[in-house]
Amino acid sequence: MFLRELIQPLNELRGVGSSVQCRLNDAGITTIASLLTRYPRDWEDRSAFAPIKDWAKGQVCTTASVTAHSWFSFGRKKTLKVYIEDQSARATLVCFNRPFLQSRLPIGKEVRIWGRFYYKFGEIMSTSFEIENPGSKSAIMPVYPLTKDLNQNLLRRLVQQALDLYGTNLENELPQKIINKEQLLKKADAVKAIHFPPSMEILEKAKSTLIYEELFYLEIMVGRRSLERRKGVTPNIISPSPVPVSPLQQHLIERLPFTLTPGQEKAIKEINDEMSGSRPLARLLQGDVGSGKTLVAFLAALRAVDEGGQAAIMAPTELLARQHADNAARLLEPLGVRPAYLTGNLKYSGRTQLLKNLAAGEVDIVLGTHALFSKDVVYRNLRLVVIDEQHRFGVTQRQAIIAKGQNSQQRKTTPDLIMMSATPIPRTLALTVFGDLDITVISDMPPGRKPVKTHLSKESNAQKVYDFVRKELESGRQAYFVYPLIGNGSEESTNEPAADNDGLKDAVSMSEKLAKKIYPQYSTALIHSKIDDEEKRKTMEAFRKGEIRILAATSVVEVGVDVPNASCMVIHHAERFGLSALHQLRGRVGRGSDQSYCFLIYSDQEDQPGINPEELSEEERSREGKRLMVMLENSDGFVIAEKDLIFRGPGQIAGIEQSGYLKLGIADPVRDADALVRARAGAFSILETDPGLLQDEHRCIADVLNRSPPFSEVAL
Ligand code: ADP
Ligand code: MG
Repeated sequence: MFLRELIQPLNELRGVGSSVQCRLNDAGITTIASLLTRYPRDWEDRSAFAPIKDWAKGQVCTTASVTAHSWFSFGRKKTLKVYIEDQSARATLVCFNRPFLQSRLPIGKEVRIWGRFYYKFGEIMSTSFEIENPGSKSAIMPVYPLTKDLNQNLLRRLVQQALDLYGTNLENELPQKIINKEQLLKKADAVKAIHFPPSMEILEKAKSTLIYEELFYLEIMVGRRSLERRKGVTPNIISPSPVPVSPLQQHLIERLPFTLTPGQEKAIKEINDEMSGSRPLARLLQGDVGSGKTLVAFLAALRAVDEGGQAAIMAPTELLARQHADNAARLLEPLGVRPAYLTGNLKYSGRTQLLKNLAAGEVDIVLGTHALFSKDVVYRNLRLVVIDEQHRFGVTQRQAIIAKGQNSQQRKTTPDLIMMSATPIPRTLALTVFGDLDITVISDMPPGRKPVKTHLSKESNAQKVYDFVRKELESGRQAYFVYPLIGNGSEESTNEPAADNDGLKDAVSMSEKLAKKIYPQYSTALIHSKIDDEEKRKTMEAFRKGEIRILAATSVVEVGVDVPNASCMVIHHAERFGLSALHQLRGRVGRGSDQSYCFLIYSDQEDQPGINPEELSEEERSREGKRLMVMLENSDGFVIAEKDLIFRGPGQIAGIEQSGYLKLGIADPVRDADALVRARAGAFSILETDPGLLQDEHRCIADVLNRSPPFSEVAL
């Protein structure tokens, strides 16, 4: 029997009538299995001796004798007090609702007591204590996560009973050879010990066993997807001699005014090797903002074109897609390649013609938003899909893309796939969520970049920031000002109610103020997601040309925008942005060789009408400070993302929560990164070398795989 096969209802346990059952159900506990997998959130070590006089250290765990009884009453209700004494001190047990303790604790009796005590009216007292018989071996007790209607004792009793009835025959869910290799406990022992550990050492073993098991199954699913994607294709034999760059690639590289960075070289080499192999390429290309990923995407696209195929490069916003299209026109058209720009907003007639050209293979590289994959778009031979800023896209969009490739007119196989991300996903999480992708990291920057100087400033000191920016403008540079709101209380990302937006600056009214009051001598423009596409494009173009000097914006400028002459990034209400978003915004400057600056302006809590400073705990206040300090101390996007994770928790990392992979009970892929790496190796080795074993010996793995959705239904 596997643990999760224990689907018996809870009323098989003594003491579970319909009312208790209801309360358990409300807490999500419906079967024996769900009871036993409600793991403790903590454990109380009652095996360590702790005399009464040390009550303040947290717990008392001692042998004491009963010295006296007395009663006191509130109204009609009488309550028993039992006086005890150990070799260190005296104490009083207040026995609310437990009059029966009078006979269980007669004067003179020796008992083992465990409890939490406090000091009041000159006495050391406890209302929450437990009595054990003197000979009983005191144990480590589980502390369960509770709901309003459940108490510790009830859960402890039920779990103990369930373990006695069902716990001994639990089958292992991990292959024996992995249990041996990893020195894990048997499943039955691990489950027993996670609830009632005989010692702290064994508790640790039980934890690592169950954590490993969860991560193992996570990686089994990930590995299975990877196998399925490669199914039916002969394994890639990477030729021993390096794959040469293709003619178009060579041509572009020669025309560039700079040389590729080592990171770009490495990325291209890996992509070339795999594109010439026989299994579809699937790679996550990570590189910090400004590391030059676009160029790598273009080079990959050129290889696809050299091989007679088409490439699609998708960006999350019109703004970014447009910028890519402009770059493609500038860099690729001179090579004789035919790029095109496709968005949802394209005028009807132009669009029809473009779709015809795509279907006829008269467009080689198409750049656009997710409109690239709408129903009416047909490709002749889609060879490569590049998804820029992949975290911005949802799971379903990614699926539509893959399906599109499989339905090209000429080519029925999966296209090569490159996902690019500048929101660095820490390696540990990347392994979990994109575990079936290969990962390339561009870890260097084009030469000559100076790190952006970052300053924190209170709202009340904003004037100083404005003055500083003025000097930069005077010397010919440009500046971004970013606000959390568009205007009239509408937020760029719509997940927060307008109601708590009181007192926040918005892009619309601030652009007025910047243009009329603060910098009247310089041209200012406004950009946000609700502005018409064509106007946005014109604005960006003018900003790139330097005709517009100041851009007031929302976080739409977060991704990808590239204007090397801009040297100042001013972010108002920085406390409203995630660290990774701040890092992205900061990455908009520092793209040339001159010094650039980033100002994080945060609201003084006292000035903010919506927030009562009294209500913020000291911790919350210092937490915010600490969070923004991370930006001052770090310029490496990976480090910042790791810290973001600590502040926000893994589920919050963009895009991952939708994937649903992280519904783990006891494992935490970030905390348990080491175990994750081992579990991944274990899972992949089983999948790759023992597929036959899955049927019989590894019934559990087979079972999990059968019940889990197939690859086509899950995210990439
Ligand atoms: P990101 O990785 O953030 O998407 P981009 O692709 O937008 O970065 O590149 C940022 C800037 O760096 C662009 O202006 C691009 O032309 C420039 N760039 C790219 N590669 C190099 C290189 N090898 N040397 C110098 N500049 C480069
Ligand atoms: Mg980019």
